[in-house]
Amino acid sequence: MRSVINPKKAEQLVEIIRWINSRGWSPATSTNYSFRNSENPISICISQSGIDKSKFGTEHFMLIDAEGRPSPDFAHLKSSAETFLHTVLYQENPEVEVILHTHSVYATILSQKYLFEGCLVLENYEVLKGLGDIKTHEVSVKVPIFDNTQDIAALSEEFRTLYRKMPEMQGYLIAGHGLYTWGKSFEIAKRQLEVFEFLLECEWRKLLMR
Ligand SMILES: [Zn+2]
Repeated sequence: MRSVINPKKAEQLVEIIRWINSRGWSPATSTNYSFRNSENPISICISQSGIDKSKFGTEHFMLIDAEGRPSPDFAHLKSSAETFLHTVLYQENPEVEVILHTHSVYATILSQKYLFEGCLVLENYEVLKGLGDIKTHEVSVKVPIFDNTQDIAALSEEFRTLYRKMPEMQGYLIAGHGLYTWGKSFEIAKRQLEVFEFLLECEWRKLLMR
């Protein structure tokens, strides 16, 4: 059976990508995005490599299978270099529907600053209630930070190992690079992204106040 891109979902993701670009979180052709397009067989709709996100449209998506291989109709196209960071999460958590990856200034510099600690800790912020199932601001959320290796297959396995130990994880950072977050709907993924980016800016401004 041939799979086609779900047009409604593609439109929804384009709207989010344009919003992300307007916030300055996707400079030039960087960043990547995907949604679970179909089950049985699983197809994932992901952004093509090298597209300027200020001009991103539904024609810039392509379909891949659960292992990251392009579907036959899209075999001439190249998905993002970070495709395996998407497929690993869809493999590990059948509830994940959407994955967003940004390259904001705050994610880039704070992930470098705290790489040695292995995570960035977010505590006592009201807006933390926008992440996962968190019900109170009196909580400490660890955002893991991975080294920015260019071996994405190895990084995806490193992520898999940590995610199995930390299933509550709603996002992670790659040092000097950016943020990944996700959700079981477009609304949740977008909300979590906005919460993380807001809190990264808070953390940066707190450092300036010291
Ligand atoms: Zn990236």
